[in-house]
Amino acid sequence: MTERATELIERLGTVQRAARRRHATAADLSLAQLDALVYLAGCNRFSDTPAAVALFLDATRGTTSQSLLALERKGLVTRSADARDRRVQHLRPTAAGRRIAAAASADDLSAGLRGLSAPELTALERGLERVLRSTQRARGGRSFGECGTCAHLRGAESGDMSCGLTGEPLSPDETHLRCAEHAPV
Ligand code: SF4
Repeated sequence: MTERATELIERLGTVQRAARRRHATAADLSLAQLDALVYLAGCNRFSDTPAAVALFLDATRGTTSQSLLALERKGLVTRSADARDRRVQHLRPTAAGRRIAAAASADDLSAGLRGLSAPELTALERGLERVLRSTQRARGGRSFGECGTCAHLRGAESGDMSCGLTGEPLSPDETHLRCAEHAPV
């Protein structure tokens, strides 16, 4: 019963990877470098560290470090030390890096998804999210979700939002970014 769904997800993944590879070639990047850049353009300020990039991409820290150094050399990412803990490094895409990440995210699959009605899209997102979460739970991976589905979010009702884990305030824009510390409700 699940074979067709598995086949479709696999096929979509292949289509998506082929599109991402084309964007990487056009931007003179490796696929791993573009994946890291796209992740950094969509993550929050608690998740822009080399360790979080490696976790998200399921890559070794050594391989990720090489990709991040290449992105820095190409002027697509900047690195800065954390204000409280100088051992922690933050990586942020430059304007040029964000442009490349945005182009790679608006690919063939996005065009197909825009053809769905709002209820169809919502149902698809919910279903896929459940599949992703249960698969990650079974494999011990992190969810990398957004604040709206996180057990640590505080103040959602009042609009005065903050993170219960870090104690820091969250702007509405930040709550739509990926987080390495996300704990699914
Ligand atoms: S509320 Fe959850 S997802 Fe949002 S910043 Fe805190 S830990 Fe991350």
